[in-house]
Amino acid sequence: MAYTLSSLLLYCFAFGQTAALTDGPYVFIENGQLVQKAILEGAVVTEMLEPGTYDTVYAPSASVFKEVEKIAAFSDVHGQFDLLVEILQNNGIIDQQMRWAFGSGHLVIVGDLFDRGGKVTETLWLIYNLELEAKKAGGRVHYLLGNHEYMILHSDLRYLHEKYVTTSNLLEMSYDDMFGPSTVLGRWLRSKPTLIKINDQVFVHGGVSMEFILEAGVNLDSINALMRESIDRPKETLKATGFYTTYYGKTGPIWYRGYFYDELPPETIDAILNKLQSEQVIVGHCSNETVVALHDKRIFGVDSSIKKGSYGEVLFWIADTFYRGTKDGGRVGFD
Ligand code: CA
Repeated sequence: MAYTLSSLLLYCFAFGQTAALTDGPYVFIENGQLVQKAILEGAVVTEMLEPGTYDTVYAPSASVFKEVEKIAAFSDVHGQFDLLVEILQNNGIIDQQMRWAFGSGHLVIVGDLFDRGGKVTETLWLIYNLELEAKKAGGRVHYLLGNHEYMILHSDLRYLHEKYVTTSNLLEMSYDDMFGPSTVLGRWLRSKPTLIKINDQVFVHGGVSMEFILEAGVNLDSINALMRESIDRPKETLKATGFYTTYYGKTGPIWYRGYFYDELPPETIDAILNKLQSEQVIVGHCSNETVVALHDKRIFGVDSSIKKGSYGEVLFWIADTFYRGTKDGGRVGFD
């Protein structure tokens, strides 16, 4: 009897979730036309959009930016859209209508918007829109791909929130196909970099290891191009050449954790920064309670555990000084 009751409750729960589910939009490019699919309270709503509603061609993003006057960075949002909005509003990066408010500043998302949480789609569209608004205001948004972006684009769906399993079932396609080469967000993602340099700072999700530099060099444009080209190549092909170990391995830019856990001596950090001709490297991927400075403020970690949904920060670089921007908008220095 108890078994029957719990099965019934489980069924009601699952049904209730599907009925209430709202997600999207996902915009597909079919024969040159924009077809939008969204889930509205559990039902698929399909709509043909006016041509030009969204760009369908996205040029590869540049890798190097100079003479930028202010920078903000965060990472590892993992679907925690509401908390991200709160942090960005309190820190004056967006306004109450979620519009760009950071002027000529550059905002860097240091990877991992995907997986774990249930508001990934909202987060992606927020960043998409901010990118357009920032450009108009003389600023820039840089969305760097992290290991979870590459996992999704390579059909590794192990960390997907159950909501997206339901969306995927309703749209009758695999989640990664919702970000395939014939979708707006898919093409947009395929234009994104893995590493960028702004002024004297390099930004990358995991980090740049000396092992990686020795194998792949430090030409950010060519590394970004290779990473982009790798997205639509099957993992088996990538693994056949050793490319996978260098670029997707544990010393590669999207998975490296050495700055935090390898007890690197100062000489190694110096050597890495010298090779990169940079003063600092800013990374995500390793979670801390706040934004942190390591290795004598030459490495900054911006994964402040936003993924847990309760607290998070941004890193600011303004007037040649680094600050933590706290959840409520406070500024805390690193001295
Ligand atoms: Ca990560």
